[in-house]
Amino acid sequence: MAALHDALTPVFDEVIQRNPGEAEFHQAVREVLESLGPVLAKRPEYVDAEIIRRLCEPERQIIFRVPWTDDAGRVQLNRGFRVEFNSALGPYKGGLRFHPSVYLGIVKFLGFEQIFKNALTGMPIGGGKGGSDFDPKGRSDAEVMRFCQSFMTELHRHIGEHTDVPAGDIGVGGREIGYLFGQYRRITNRHESGVLTGKGLTWGGSQVRTESTGYGTVFFVKEALAARGQDLEGKRVVISGSGNVAIYATEKAQALGAHVVACSDSAGYIVDEAGIDLELLKEIKNGHRGRVSDYADRRGSAIYVAGGSIWDVPSDIALPCATQNELDADAAAKLVAHRTLIVAEGANMPTTPDAARVLRDGGVIFAPGKAVNAGGVATSALEMQQNASRDSWSFEHTEQRLSEIMSSIHQRCLETADEYGTPGDYVAGANIAGFTQVADAMLAQGV
Ligand code: GLU
Repeated sequence: MAALHDALTPVFDEVIQRNPGEAEFHQAVREVLESLGPVLAKRPEYVDAEIIRRLCEPERQIIFRVPWTDDAGRVQLNRGFRVEFNSALGPYKGGLRFHPSVYLGIVKFLGFEQIFKNALTGMPIGGGKGGSDFDPKGRSDAEVMRFCQSFMTELHRHIGEHTDVPAGDIGVGGREIGYLFGQYRRITNRHESGVLTGKGLTWGGSQVRTESTGYGTVFFVKEALAARGQDLEGKRVVISGSGNVAIYATEKAQALGAHVVACSDSAGYIVDEAGIDLELLKEIKNGHRGRVSDYADRRGSAIYVAGGSIWDVPSDIALPCATQNELDADAAAKLVAHRTLIVAEGANMPTTPDAARVLRDGGVIFAPGKAVNAGGVATSALEMQQNASRDSWSFEHTEQRLSEIMSSIHQRCLETADEYGTPGDYVAGANIAGFTQVADAMLAQGV
């Protein structure tokens, strides 16, 4: 672990003590605090105003009961969460995750990351996150609908277009946003488009929102390569995951001439040396909610490896797009041995702290999720903008805006890293640029 600035050790100790057992939240906080030493040296007013202690404590944390009835008529029970972390820059903004691993510590880690990510987009959005330990896998559409309706029956009183604007994350896509929006509209008698993002295109959704996290990830990589006189043409890419982020990262990487050879799910990974057939992958994942093993069954050039680590597959570019802590120090050592040029996080915090260190020491460029995957929430903010003006933009215009935002995030990370004496360090650049923006707003707005 890197050392913390003297003023930050008690702050971090307090975070551990106030949030016992929330390992992912501690990890996310520590990663940001490790970058802030040079900031405190330049800006002692942040210490005087206790900005960092205040920033580490969510403004509001909501935990609620979500009862629902399954198809057999049995009553099921889940727990719902919404952590409204920081609203200095705008309404709380961040997705909902439905996955059995969700508990308060996961929601807090995601909400904390979201504060800095959202600041980096340059859009007026604060940070929040929510979700449930509900597992949509294997559930019928009707069960998912009843769950979403029950979830929104409580959540609706806490959200609003100027208050808190949820969207999707793992386990929450277009289907779930539809059921959630329908219930909000029924309960409140308001067609308030700006209350959720990721909506369908015919009822207030934005072009490119579905593609944006994956596209934005590749736009960031393109900028990082361009800064070093390189491009994606002919580069070999390995992408973990096979959800929304992975699929659209694959699509954009292929469009820019890269050769994507592998993807994965929680059961295993596939390698397809002929290049991933995206239409087939989309049909399996989006059409039937299937597994990547089905892909190997249907495509002769692909092999399926059950279990194992996708990071064993050599690559020039590695994009972890699955989930937190999926890339550990052993995997990082393999990437170093394979001379991978860059690891860019499409998921939130997929690289463990030890792995990030191995990559940095091994000369691999490492770009953190809060910068790399910010295109998703940035396009959500574009959706809010369209809803507020009752407008709807073309695909081309929206994608152009996304590409400009990603390029400006990339540039801000590099400029900030330079300014604070850590040239080329995207982690420091992203953390410091996001932090100073929120900290200045909090200072201006008083205690
Ligand atoms: N869940 C996405 C993220 O991690 C998007 C959030 C949003 O669009 O509000 O940034």
